[in-house]
Amino acid sequence: MTWQAPPDVRRIRAVQRRLRRQQGPFEGKLRLPPVDELVATVLSQHTSDVNSARAFASLKRRFPSWEEVADAPTAEVAAAIRAGGIANQKAPRIQRILAEIERREGGIDLGALEPLADSEVEAYLTSLPGVGPKTAACVLVFSMGRAAFPIDTHVHRVTARLGWIPPGATAERAHQILGGLVPADIRYDLHVALVTHGRTVCKAQRPRCRSCVLLDLCPFGRATTRAGRG
Ligand code: SF4
Repeated sequence: MTWQAPPDVRRIRAVQRRLRRQQGPFEGKLRLPPVDELVATVLSQHTSDVNSARAFASLKRRFPSWEEVADAPTAEVAAAIRAGGIANQKAPRIQRILAEIERREGGIDLGALEPLADSEVEAYLTSLPGVGPKTAACVLVFSMGRAAFPIDTHVHRVTARLGWIPPGATAERAHQILGGLVPADIRYDLHVALVTHGRTVCKAQRPRCRSCVLLDLCPFGRATTRAGRG
């Protein structure tokens, strides 16, 4: 399949409407302060929601403040987040981020971002060590109520199959293409809808194309069903 161009806005809105109709009313995530959301997003990488929530709760129980997490021996932080997987990588990463915030802000708090424009918040967050566009978008949308569109593994896979991004596009490239293309008023909603769709219907292995409400809008699904798969 050759990629021609990003979809027009009507097509994006049609996907959001159909998924919302199928999945029921939109529900946002519990809103956390920006530093909490930043740490929670790091913990969510390469693990399930259940395990990352467990790791986050354990970290908060073990250390009453972010300053204490930053100052603790890395092995103790890793022990506290063990439930979230790859703890020996995530612990030093979290500590580096917290230390850098403390260095810049004089404390571990991101309240100073509140008056900034979305693009300035994104620039600040992605300048922190190991923070990429997806993590920054999660903080923007889930914590600060801004109109961002995080590209996680499900959004990346489903939008690639829908032909919204070129084949083989990296998550960064997808972020560049879709960040400005998805209308601001449906970014959060569509992100949540695509994640649910990716988990339940458009799975990585054996997507259920024949029963998918997006089949007529999806080049991958049409090719798959024509070939007798899916
Ligand atoms: S038709 Fe298939 S590939 Fe396309 S969105 Fe639906 S499940 Fe995914």
